[in-house]
Amino acid sequence: MNEKISAEQMLNNIFDIMQRLYDEMRSDENKTGGHLKVFEIFADLGRTLVEADRASFWRWDKRQHLLITTAATGTSQIVISDKTGLVGQALAENRAVLTNDPYNNPNFNSAVDKKTGYVTKSILVMPVSDCRGEIIGAFQVINKLGDGGFDEVEDTKRLSIAAFICGMALESDIFMADSQRDKLTELKNRFGFHSDYQKRYRRRTSIMSAIICDIDFFKKVNDTYGHNAGDAVLVHVSKILASKIRDGDNVYRWGGEEFVIVLEGANVDGAAAVAERIRLAIMDSVCKFEDKEIRVTMSFGCTEMDSSLTIEENIQVADARLYRAKETGRNRVIAAD
Ligand code: GH3
Ligand code: MG
Ligand code: MG
Repeated sequence: MNEKISAEQMLNNIFDIMQRLYDEMRSDENKTGGHLKVFEIFADLGRTLVEADRASFWRWDKRQHLLITTAATGTSQIVISDKTGLVGQALAENRAVLTNDPYNNPNFNSAVDKKTGYVTKSILVMPVSDCRGEIIGAFQVINKLGDGGFDEVEDTKRLSIAAFICGMALESDIFMADSQRDKLTELKNRFGFHSDYQKRYRRRTSIMSAIICDIDFFKKVNDTYGHNAGDAVLVHVSKILASKIRDGDNVYRWGGEEFVIVLEGANVDGAAAVAERIRLAIMDSVCKFEDKEIRVTMSFGCTEMDSSLTIEENIQVADARLYRAKETGRNRVIAAD
């Protein structure tokens, strides 16, 4: 296993990996389920290029100051602070970091080894940038096969192929995720809803419900307090909506002051109960903006998803109920015709 492989064998290994990558990009799973497999193959490419035992690709979540493995060969997903480890160092110093004696390197984080019993002998980390030069992640390879460790010049040159392709793929994933999120409220937007629908909801066979809700007399908030105050109310309401749903449920900013909530495993009565809880929480809350205290209410329409209808038709059922909630006095939940 520790034999050096021939150049021809290496080239063949690379071609095999590239073919897997090409096939994976075209697969149905890739179209609907994100790029997880693709990143796994990238990690394998890096591992093969430098003849290492393990490889991982890390995404840098700058907002939460976290490093998250998008793919790793040999371990499950790891999440660490971006201040720690050799990956943190490579990002902070924006350069490749290499050690062939990690246990004597103060930046080496041995927590994973301690937990899993794995023995790290050599590490090479390369920062990965997007096309504007912003660092977005890092590629790490562990334990050079054979005798000796990584070679700074030779192995960074080889690993740069995988790091470059990975950077491009990660950047396109980041663009995609950004386009599905509303900048003001940080909730997913309508495009995000349709993407989740294709990926998750469409294939679901068990029960699912939707709530559509809309702030009452919101135009008056803008007219009375100004547009910035209106924006603050939207953020305030979004936080309450997100805090009142369970893990696995999702809330989307559907349009201006209108939101959709999808509840998996809930029937229409369950959805109505959630909507009522949210209605009360919104009614009892105060949005503080500058020296003002702004109160709003919301109206709700609920429906159980009918698999014989299209997604638009299902939302239309809930929307008609929301319309009735508005017509019959607002600040209420309607969950039946
Ligand atoms: P109703 O109770 O019938 O829902 O009345 P409404 O005033 O809430 O509804 P209407 O549709 O007349 O007004 C919605 C307003 O929401 C108009 C629009 O300017 C405002 N709006 C939409 N998006 C935003 C936004 O991002 N920020 C702010 N501040 N206002 C927004
Ligand atoms: Mg409204
Ligand atoms: Mg509206």
